[in-house]
Amino acid sequence: MDIKTYLGFWLKGNFLRKSIVTDKVESLKDFNIETIIENNIRLAVFDFDDTLSDFHGESISNDIASFLNELDSNSIKVAIYSNCSDGRNKVLFEIFEGRNYFISSQNGKPSPNGYIEILNHYNLKPEDAAMFGDKLGTDIYGAYLTGFKLRVLLKPYSYIFGGNIAPFKDRFVRRVEKLFITH
Ligand SMILES: [Mg+2]
Repeated sequence: MDIKTYLGFWLKGNFLRKSIVTDKVESLKDFNIETIIENNIRLAVFDFDDTLSDFHGESISNDIASFLNELDSNSIKVAIYSNCSDGRNKVLFEIFEGRNYFISSQNGKPSPNGYIEILNHYNLKPEDAAMFGDKLGTDIYGAYLTGFKLRVLLKPYSYIFGGNIAPFKDRFVRRVEKLFITH
């Protein structure tokens, strides 16, 4: 995590900007893929923990796999940006083996650097991209700073579908963000 950029979320008053989030849904099940097509999105970037699986999950559900398949069949590129350790990243490579996805090894959300690396990999622009994540101050704020066209905030996967929940510090941050943020 890039603490300096994250602090800007609070200190610059950015948490008050409603425009940081463009779409808010409970889960990917509730997200209409037409939104991606209508907005000419060519790249979907996903956080992993509590976005595509439970916290530190080791696989993806059939529903998530179908959602990703639908993106694949619409020729939407996919990247995974998880802000995690190298060891954890190896697990992600195994989970997505056989899918031609760019898996970022950066862990500096919400700094734009990791997002820009993904765009450069696919030779695309921020307005071609959508970010999906469960954390406003990192996943979504970083995409906002980079200029991603869609920034979709999801409820944490484990809250909806069960499984491992995030450690206390993550849940605490989420609670603090929730206190101040109404969007
Ligand atoms: Mg997450």
